[in-house]
Amino acid sequence: MKVPLLDLKQQLNYLREDILKAVTRVIDSTTYIQGPEVSFLEHEIAAYCGVENGVGVSSGTDALLVSLMALGIGPGDQVLTTPYSFFATMGVVLRLGAIPVFVDIDPVSFNIDPVAMEEVLSRDHDRKIKAILPVHLYGQCADMEAIMKSAHQYELPVIEDAAQAIGAEYPMNRDTGDGMKVQWKKAGSMGLAGCFSFFPSKNLGGIGDGGMVVTHDGAFADKIRILLNHGASPKYYHGQVGGNFRLDPIQAAVLRIKMTYLGQWHRARRENADRYNRMFTETDLVQNNFLALPQAVYLKKQLEGNMSGAGENFHIYNQYVLRVNRRDALLDWLRSQDIGCEVYYPVALHQQKCLGASFPVQSFHQAEKAASETIALPIYPELTAEMQEYVVDKIVEFYRQ
Ligand SMILES: *Cc1c(COP(=O)(O)O)cnc(C)c1O
Repeated sequence: MKVPLLDLKQQLNYLREDILKAVTRVIDSTTYIQGPEVSFLEHEIAAYCGVENGVGVSSGTDALLVSLMALGIGPGDQVLTTPYSFFATMGVVLRLGAIPVFVDIDPVSFNIDPVAMEEVLSRDHDRKIKAILPVHLYGQCADMEAIMKSAHQYELPVIEDAAQAIGAEYPMNRDTGDGMKVQWKKAGSMGLAGCFSFFPSKNLGGIGDGGMVVTHDGAFADKIRILLNHGASPKYYHGQVGGNFRLDPIQAAVLRIKMTYLGQWHRARRENADRYNRMFTETDLVQNNFLALPQAVYLKKQLEGNMSGAGENFHIYNQYVLRVNRRDALLDWLRSQDIGCEVYYPVALHQQKCLGASFPVQSFHQAEKAASETIALPIYPELTAEMQEYVVDKIVEFYRQ
């Protein structure tokens, strides 16, 4: 049996007619830059996230870049972030001449550890840190309540890298006057701004690059709209230097179709994750510490406490990631058995060569450990129970060798 890491063909076959119609509609309109498809998608995604503003941009990377530009981040400024993410999270900081300040991750969620973060902020006496850039890795939100609390205390803006987490929900405690109530908040809606990627492998993926910034703050959204058109306001008058970071209307038209299936796809991924968890638990691999299952930390909270308004998308499983023994050997074995798998990510950000010799040598134990122990298995919505069984059987076979 062949089990690819991701199979976009099935989704395409199902949506082919609608997608071709939408693309044709854009082509026939001859509106090839911005236009109604982009603004409709902006409204639809903003509404989905429960925020007032959405601004379409050219990629998830550019969503992050333009957000930091709108904050005025520049040479010498520091941005606090995680050492365990896709490169773009750190890349945008470096491109602006700013310096990433890393805080190690929590070993269970793989997201920034808020206690370690608070400690770094408390030592920043000359206030070099200008923003906090948490990542909601694999489709599960970072601990935003703690992060927002520190952000308020140190008066720092938070830009959420929600590239892997569109629709993921976080149980935010809110004082309602008569006691604390939990409100499930969508990824990207808790900080000053949230950044999404429509890279084809994300839960909401286009037929090319695309991204979006969502924000409650209308003035911040306006700044981004100006920056993504070379900083022009009005046209041909440049008060600042921006770039061309616009979302392609063909992508917007296709994404609007896919948006209507997003809830269904999230559910299918979650069911696949539950099925893997059951299948692995029925083996002795977890018990014998050959592997550790991914933890949906907010589901656990929900089950333990008496939360109001139960969340559903506490984890959207953009990736299903295990910690395993002999990771690299397992990776080779699974690939030799026609099973697609990948490591997100094999090198922690603070260890990337591009940082150069002048960057201080630092160690972030949990990030480094995650980089050497994690493996992502196929989790896409159309994956079948038979395929999952095959994957689990092959992993069992590997540890029996
Ligand atoms: C995918 C991704 C990005 C970048 O998105 P692109 O659309 O590929 O530019 C940024 N951060 C994280 C965590 C991502 O997974």
